[in-house]
Amino acid sequence: MLSGHASGRTGFMLVRRKLVERLRAQGIHDPRVLAAFEDVPRHDLVPEALWGQAYKDTALPIGEGQTISAPGIVATMSAALGLRGAECVLEVGTGSGYQAAILSRLAARVISIERIPALAQAAQAALANLKVRNVEFYLGDGTCGRPEDAPFEAIVVTAGGPEVPRPLLEQLALGGRLVGPFGPRDAQQLLRIQRTGEASFTQEVLGRCDFVDLVGRNGWLP
Ligand code: SAH
Repeated sequence: MLSGHASGRTGFMLVRRKLVERLRAQGIHDPRVLAAFEDVPRHDLVPEALWGQAYKDTALPIGEGQTISAPGIVATMSAALGLRGAECVLEVGTGSGYQAAILSRLAARVISIERIPALAQAAQAALANLKVRNVEFYLGDGTCGRPEDAPFEAIVVTAGGPEVPRPLLEQLALGGRLVGPFGPRDAQQLLRIQRTGEASFTQEVLGRCDFVDLVGRNGWLP
C-alpha cells in the first residue's frame, strides 16, 4: 500500500493540498474555507473503490442513486454562506456528510437533514469516525426545515428543487443567508438569498448547476 493513502486526515494529504490550490485558482479565498478543505478527508466519505477519484473536482456515486457533490461547488456554496464561526447552520441533504463536515469547521453548530435512512446512517458513522462532534443528524423531509431549532443564520440546500421552500425562508434569521440550487431540472441556478427584513429578501444568482432532486413536500414529488 502506498504510504499516505490511509484513512483519516493524514491519508491523501498531498492530494488534498493540490485540491486547495485548485479551489484558490477558482476564486475561493476565505482562509477558513480553504483550511476546511485541506482538513476534511473526502476519500473517507466515498466507497473505497473510488478513493483514486476522491480529490478530483467531480460528483461521485454514494449509493441510493445519490452523489457526493464536487468539491468546487461545495466550496462555492460554503464560501457564499459567509460564515464567521458562531453560527447555527441548517443543511438540507446530508448525503455523504462531506458538506456537513466542511461546515462543522466553519460554524458552531450544524443541523443536517437527510430523507434516505441508509445515507443518514452512513454519514453519521463516518463523521463520528472523523471525530466531528458539532453536527446533529435528522431523518426526514428537509424542505420543511426544523422549526424547533430555527432561526438559522445560514441554510444550505444541497439538492435541486423547483423553487425555494417557503418554510426555509421563514426559518432564516434576520440577516441570514440561504444558498442552494433551484429552478427547472435542465436550468438549475445556484441562488443566494439574504433575509433583510421580516418579509423582505434579496436574491443573487451565483451560477448554473446540476444537482440531484430535492424530493419532498416543498420540492419535487417522489
Ligand atoms: N451534501 C451532500 C450532497 C448529497 S446529494 C454531500 O456533501 O454529500 C443530495 C442529498 O439530498 C441526497 O442524499 C438526497 O437523498 C437528499 N435529499 C433530497 N431531498 C431531500 C429532502 N427533502 N430532505 C432531506 N434530504 C433530501
